[in-house]
Amino acid sequence: MDFAADRETESLRAEVRAFVREHLTSDVRERVASTGDYHDREFHTALAERGWVGAHWTVEEGGRGLDRAKTDVVYEELASAGAPTEGLAITQIVGEAVRRVGTAEQRERLLAPICRGELVLALGYTEPGSGSDLASVRTRAARDGAGWVVDGQKIFTTLGNVADYVFLLARTDPDAPKHAGLTTFLVPTASAGFSAAPILTLSGQRTNVTYYSGVRVGDDARVGEVGQGWEIVNVALAFERGGEFAAQLRRLVDAAVAWGHDEERGDETRFRGRLGRAVASAEVSRLLGVRASWSRGSAEAGAVEGAMAKVYGTEALLRESRSLLDATGVQGVRNRGTAGAAAGGELQHLYRESQIATIYGGTSEVLLTLIAQQRLGLPRGRRRPPP
Ligand SMILES: Cc1cc2nc3c(=O)[nH]c(=O)nc-3n(C[C@H](O)[C@H](O)[C@H](O)COP(=O)(O)OP(=O)(O)OC[C@H]3O[C@@H](n4cnc5c(N)ncnc54)[C@H](O)[C@@H]3O)c2cc1C
Repeated sequence: MDFAADRETESLRAEVRAFVREHLTSDVRERVASTGDYHDREFHTALAERGWVGAHWTVEEGGRGLDRAKTDVVYEELASAGAPTEGLAITQIVGEAVRRVGTAEQRERLLAPICRGELVLALGYTEPGSGSDLASVRTRAARDGAGWVVDGQKIFTTLGNVADYVFLLARTDPDAPKHAGLTTFLVPTASAGFSAAPILTLSGQRTNVTYYSGVRVGDDARVGEVGQGWEIVNVALAFERGGEFAAQLRRLVDAAVAWGHDEERGDETRFRGRLGRAVASAEVSRLLGVRASWSRGSAEAGAVEGAMAKVYGTEALLRESRSLLDATGVQGVRNRGTAGAAAGGELQHLYRESQIATIYGGTSEVLLTLIAQQRLGLPRGRRRPPP
């Protein structure tokens, strides 16, 4: 099997690298660092102008019709450069759900504006007390004439402060079994009764608590059938998890190599050993990501492959960033922008990011359970012995 990319894909890679040099300016980086939002409207619009928002969606939908391999190259290069792509990633996850289960009217209304960079979407699943056990969400959407009224609170709604819509998982039937009483909605953030308050994470990234107080939406805000929310969220989750952490590992390796050169410590055997292991982890992570992407033709397979890529990539990022940071000694703990910071503070920043990466999109423990059950066929949990 030939793993090498074809010439067209490599030329796309060069195009993305040139784009990054032109558009990922110090102004963009400063805006991202000061707001904590890993999204920048100006940068996002420039991405859309190239056709890289919804890149693999069909031309009729507003996309560029790129195949999976080429689309992955675009994401890989943007992420490796540390570009603010959270808006791109989350919007496309929700967009996939709209493509699959949205009405013709919703697809018409939303997909082309998404591809033009005019709409940014956030994910509103998690609640205080309902993270891993997502099916227990309590935010309520109740029938109100022809529409719905939403009341409740979500936590960790990343980009909920800048997005145009939140893709909300809400309980529509409190009497149904917990997985069956859920429905998904696209709630406009401009709605009366919606608000967002910041949560700053360890890496400086902002996420939000979002509040819904008597928020009224029409029935055209509902995505999919009433009671189908659990299935829809699970399809969307399969698209959320993948090999994006390979690019973070590549950033880590690049930063460590730069430090090795700067400090003329690159020859030390201990450092070289650590670097070698990080390079190997980055490559394994990349290959698992390619497999996850390839297997997305089937949502069920994609869920397991995506979970494998996510657990491996995030745990490797945690392990290798800690190991390389240790090698840099006291300079390693200095922040980005601080004089004398090892590798410009990049290793330390990636180490902090790795702590939360093992949590969002499903924690490592929960995803390992999913892999054990769905791939290895292991039982759900220890059963009580019969009395
Ligand atoms: C930076 C960041 C951004 C996020 N962005 C979003 C977003 O945009 N939208 C959104 O909806 N959510 C978002 N999340 C939420 C994220 O998906 C949840 O934090 C995650 O699913 C874990 O849920 P929890 O925080 O409630 O932890 P809990 O579920 O309470 O877990 C606590 C601990 O218990 C363990 N645990 C829980 N259940 C089990 C089990 N069955 N078996 C073994 N161990 C278990 C977990 O692994 C974890 O270590 C984000 C989170 C973070 C940190």
